[in-house]
Amino acid sequence: MSRAVITGGAGFLGSHLCDKLLAEGIDVVVVDNLVTGSEGNFTHLLNSSRFSFVNQDVSDHITVDGEVDFVFHLASPASPIDFTTKPIQIMKVNSLGTHNALGLARAKNATFFLASTSEVYGDPLVHPQTEEYWGNVNPIGIRGVYDEGKRFSEALTLAYKRMHGINVKIVRIFNTYGPRMRLDDGRVVPNFVGQALRGDPITVYGDGKQTRSFCYCTDLIDGFWKLVTSKETGPINIGNPTERTMLEFAEEIKRLTNSNSEIVFEELKTPDDPKQRKPDITKAKNLLGWEPKVSLEDGLHSTIEYFAKKLGKA
Ligand code: NAD
Ligand code: UDP
Repeated sequence: MSRAVITGGAGFLGSHLCDKLLAEGIDVVVVDNLVTGSEGNFTHLLNSSRFSFVNQDVSDHITVDGEVDFVFHLASPASPIDFTTKPIQIMKVNSLGTHNALGLARAKNATFFLASTSEVYGDPLVHPQTEEYWGNVNPIGIRGVYDEGKRFSEALTLAYKRMHGINVKIVRIFNTYGPRMRLDDGRVVPNFVGQALRGDPITVYGDGKQTRSFCYCTDLIDGFWKLVTSKETGPINIGNPTERTMLEFAEEIKRLTNSNSEIVFEELKTPDDPKQRKPDITKAKNLLGWEPKVSLEDGLHSTIEYFAKKLGKA
């Protein structure tokens, strides 16, 4: 029997990872301070003797008793709103927190898995983004706390591999959505779906010509699993390459929710908002045999259903 620690396991992606690991026969210990996560994301697991939760800030030293085979480091606020409201926490968890999680992995002789991000490419000048691209990041912009934090995390992870020989995996996650995102999270999927379901104006930031490519959560977690069970270290892009402008996306959400909401334009919330983003997933395909399976329409149906229940509209 194997055992995994998941930092950030009470969050959107972390809680889906809990489900996957438990289903694969791996016991799970979540370490999370609930800054953006919620116990509600794992109440369905609390009856299992194979699951436990420690309420702790991983920017402080992490102590976990017993054997640990995997440390998945997902703890970090991830919404652009958090870049303004929690900048120091973000920098701490992606520096001190990553250091502590790596230290835990080293002490336990465990495999370390880092949840990195497409934000390491910044406002990219190469499109679609390949893992070889070094990125175009403004270190002193509002997004810098997150982008540089994740870049530091990647560098530290590889330093631990080179210095201490620990087994590490780095995934660069592109925009992912699905049930268990918070309605007030501020990212585009909960914003647009919540606004459309409530009949409020759908807020497109900037001119709406910026693009993103959205991956459904179960596809992403399958990609995590394929990476963990492979010999690869990464960094490796995991995301859905189907690209859309934010204006097209707003129209699509309006259609799928049968909403009468009007689409309105507001100022960009962060000046360095990437103008285009789309993963090149050649490596994931060739090295891991992974590619996304869930269409945007199917993924959005499940997500809309989830948010509709939360809003009492289902
Ligand atoms: P989330 O906010 O739902 O989850 C983050 C979790 O980390 C929360 O449960 C939060 O309470 C916890 N956390 C934050 N700081 C902590 C600390 N100091 N100590 C302990 N716990 C802490 O966000 P998510 O979308 O599930 O993101 C999970 C990870 O994936 C993050 O590292 C994020 O950077 C990365 N990521 C996500 C996406 C995406 O599209 N969802 C894209 C790129 C990268
Ligand atoms: N966005 C928008 N309206 C919103 C929220 C976000 O137009 O209500 C845009 C945002 O400016 C960005 C894209 O949607 O261009 C994706 O934003 P998100 O916050 O989901 O994550 P990002 O990819 O920017 O990290």
